[in-house]
Amino acid sequence: MTQPRILIVGGGAAGLTVASQLLQARPGLVITILEPAADHYYQPGWTLVGAGVFSLEETHRSERQLIPEGVEWLQAEAVSFDPEHNQVSASNGETISYDFLVVATGMKLCWEAIKGLPEALGTNGICSNYSKDTLNYTWETIKNFKGGLAVFTCPPMPIKCPGAPQKIAYLADDVFKRSPEVAARSKVIYATATPGIFGVPTYAAPLRKVVARRGIDARYNHTLTEVRADKKEAVFSVKEGDSVREEMISFELLHVTPPMAAPDVVAKSPLAGSAPGGFVEVDKFSLQHLRFPNVFSLGDVSGMPNSKTAAAIRGQAPVLVHNLLALVDGKPLNAAYDGYSCCPLITGYGKTIMAEFNYEQQPVPSFPLDPTVERWSMWIVKVKILPWLYWNRMLKGGLHERRFIPGAGQVVTLSD
Ligand SMILES: Cc1cc2nc3c(=O)[nH]c(=O)nc-3n(C[C@H](O)[C@H](O)[C@H](O)COP(=O)(O)OP(=O)(O)OC[C@H]3O[C@@H](n4cnc5c(N)ncnc54)[C@H](O)[C@@H]3O)c2cc1C
Repeated sequence: MTQPRILIVGGGAAGLTVASQLLQARPGLVITILEPAADHYYQPGWTLVGAGVFSLEETHRSERQLIPEGVEWLQAEAVSFDPEHNQVSASNGETISYDFLVVATGMKLCWEAIKGLPEALGTNGICSNYSKDTLNYTWETIKNFKGGLAVFTCPPMPIKCPGAPQKIAYLADDVFKRSPEVAARSKVIYATATPGIFGVPTYAAPLRKVVARRGIDARYNHTLTEVRADKKEAVFSVKEGDSVREEMISFELLHVTPPMAAPDVVAKSPLAGSAPGGFVEVDKFSLQHLRFPNVFSLGDVSGMPNSKTAAAIRGQAPVLVHNLLALVDGKPLNAAYDGYSCCPLITGYGKTIMAEFNYEQQPVPSFPLDPTVERWSMWIVKVKILPWLYWNRMLKGGLHERRFIPGAGQVVTLSD
């Protein structure tokens, strides 16, 4: 029997995981990954790079060594999607035909949406954990901070790892408090576009206590609009009921998390839905495209309303693989993603709240412990176990043992 041609666009956390799981489920499948980058980074480790715990190199592998054996790698990027004709055009001039398409391009970072930011980044105490190019500067700036206002921003959702903008604020606060003189001269401000500290109420409650305990000035509905690097001023648009006002904060340190969206090639394609951000319009349970049945999507570029994390991909990939192969076989698509995501909320060096939750914002802990408590054991999970699992299990196709809530009636249990 001729094998179907499966094209995966994007060989990041999602694309590599799906390719590995597909091959394990059905050896011999014809799979191509379209991915321009020669290097892959473990982005969930970047908060710890910015906090001086990991080196950038520890989060790096070459893409070549991660492409599963038996998968063809085309080192180019998708420049247009033509789902009506089952074709993708690539930057090397090739037009690739497929029987099934998986879109996994991740998100684009919209630095330019904040006036003055692109040229200011990496200078004058303006840093970010969201770019590998400024990660080392984040740690340098935090480590050498001598006092003043340290401002940490968070843009409107969706972003990847919604907890990351505040995790670095807690870690920086710990560093400042190592020196009584620096601590006495400093103030930490967490300025977020969101109306609260975290979107999941169960985990927002302990985080509010962390903020209060640390004396952090949390400012809600604050969206960063401009950075004036020479004057060290950050300008925010502040929503108050129906009105909007401007607020300027002078800083010594500014950690920026930029707004994010789907890459233009996806957002401008027929695959995008009408919702803002241009994400791929898939069914939130089956991960199948709503208008093109042979197209699936997962990871940050997919349009499900889950919290965008690498951990979410552990929940999504087995469902996508099960449903894609069911479609190949002409069977019903009966695996469903429950919105699982996990944000290891680092609340200081040696402390983490392991926030796991689903679409309903219910806690779904993997450990038999109260998940709302800050724990040293969860810090060890974050620092040691999760990176190991990522490189040695997730990207190699190991399944995450979870029970998936069905979209249409039937429960499908997937395990190793
Ligand atoms: C600072 C930070 C902290 C984080 N912390 C955590 C955490 O603690 N826990 C957690 O689970 N997650 C965390 N995340 C989020 C996590 O890294 C992402 O959710 C995850 O990497 C998403 O995987 P993805 O494959 O969808 O996208 P990516 O891993 O970004 O991969 C997308 C790939 O697609 C490629 N691509 C882009 N455009 C094209 C194109 N046109 N054609 C072909 N290929 C293309 C890119 O080169 C890239 O390799 C964090 C992220 C950051 C930045």
